[in-house]
Amino acid sequence: MGYSTKHKLVTSGLKLPVRLLLGPGPSNLHPRVNQMLSSSMVGYTDQQYYKVMDETMELMRYLFQTDNHFTIPISGAGTAAMETCVANLIEPGDNVVCLVAGYFSDRIYQMAVRYNGNITKVQKPWGTWFDLQEIKTALETHKPKLLTLVFGETSTGVRQSMEGIGELCRQHDCLLMVDTVAALGGVPFYCDDWKVDACYTGGQKCLSGPPGISPLTFSNRATKKIAARKTPVANWYLDANLLGQYWCPEFNFADGSIISPQPLRKYHHTTPANLIYSLRESLVLLVEEGLDNVWNRHKQAAFDFYKGLEDLKLSPVIRDVYDSADEKGGRLFSLTTVSIPEGIDGKNIMKFLLDNYGIEIAGGLGDYAGKVWRVGLMGHNANHGNVLLLLAALKDALT
Ligand code: PLP
Repeated sequence: MGYSTKHKLVTSGLKLPVRLLLGPGPSNLHPRVNQMLSSSMVGYTDQQYYKVMDETMELMRYLFQTDNHFTIPISGAGTAAMETCVANLIEPGDNVVCLVAGYFSDRIYQMAVRYNGNITKVQKPWGTWFDLQEIKTALETHKPKLLTLVFGETSTGVRQSMEGIGELCRQHDCLLMVDTVAALGGVPFYCDDWKVDACYTGGQKCLSGPPGISPLTFSNRATKKIAARKTPVANWYLDANLLGQYWCPEFNFADGSIISPQPLRKYHHTTPANLIYSLRESLVLLVEEGLDNVWNRHKQAAFDFYKGLEDLKLSPVIRDVYDSADEKGGRLFSLTTVSIPEGIDGKNIMKFLLDNYGIEIAGGLGDYAGKVWRVGLMGHNANHGNVLLLLAALKDALT
C-alpha cells in the first residue's frame, strides 16, 4: 500500500508579519516571555518542573492579590478558566445569577446554562455596570449560590465597581465569581480584599504572554463547596479535584488545611511546560516592576490616549472615567471603546492602520458591531510611545 500524495502540502517555513497588537488581545509578547517559549522541555514529573510549578503558583497569588492556596494555571484559553469556574461551582439545581452587560458576561451565562443549574440572567444595557442596590435585589430575589460578573468587559470597555459586592455575597451565602481576563496585571484588583471566591485571567492580554495558559484562583469557600458536591464535576479536563492532585496535592479542599508531608503529585494531563515558563516570566516581570507601577503605567497610557482622542475629535464610548482604584465603575484603562464617527467606515480605518502601520485594533462585537473601535493598551504595550504612534496613525487614516 503506497502512501498518499494528494494533499496540498507547504514546504516553506512560516513567515509572519510583525504587528503592533493594540486591540482587545492578544497583545504583543514581552521579549523575555517570548524567549521562554523556546526553553528546553522537561518532563512533567521532573523535580525542576515541580519547582517551576510552585514558583508560578506563588507568583500568581501576587498577581491576584490573594492567599488562596488553590491558585493554578489552567491549560487553555481564558474561556477554559471561565469554564473551570462554572463546571466546578455549579451543581445541578443550584440557583445562579449571571450579571450580563456585554459579550463576555453573556458567555458566562451561555456556559452556565449547560451545567443544569437554575440560571437567572440579570441583564443591563451594554456600556453600563451594576450598582450595589441592583446586586442586592438580585441576591434577595433569586437566592443564588453563585453570582457571576465580569470586572473588565472587553466588549464595552467598562470596569465594574467591586465595592461591597463580596460582603453582600457573603451575607447571602453566595459565592462570587469574577472574570478579570482583560484587566488583571493592568488594572488594580484585590481578590482577597474584595472577597472574590473564583477569579481567572488569560495570559495574552495585560500579562504580555501567549494565549493558552490562564491563571485561576479559588477561595477556601469555593473549594469547600467543590468538596461537598453530591455529583461529580461534569467536565473531566477541568475538574478542580483532579487538577489539584497534580498542582497542589497537599491542599485539603474541604477545610483548606495543608496535608504534611505533601502527597505525591498525580498526573492529570501533560501541562504545556513552555507556556508555564512564559507565564512565570510574565509574572517575574510584574514583580520586578511592581504592581503599583504596572497599574500606574496602564492608567497613564490610557489617559494619554484619551487626551489624544480629544485632539482628534474622537470620543470614548464610556463617559465615566474615575482615575483611581476607588472601586467605582467606569472606564477600563486597559481597553477603550472609541465611537466611530458618523460617515466613517470603521473597517476601512482598521485596514489602513494594519496595511500602513502594522497596527491592529479591533471593531465592536454584538450590540457594538460597526459602532466602535476597541483599543487595548495592555501589558508591555501600555506605553507612551505606542499611544503616540497609534494617534499619529489614526490621524493619518482620518485625514
Ligand atoms: N473574558 C473576557 C473579558 C475576555 O476579554 C476574553 C477574551 O477576549 C475572554 C473572557 C475569553 O478569553 P479567551 O479568548 O482567551 O478564551
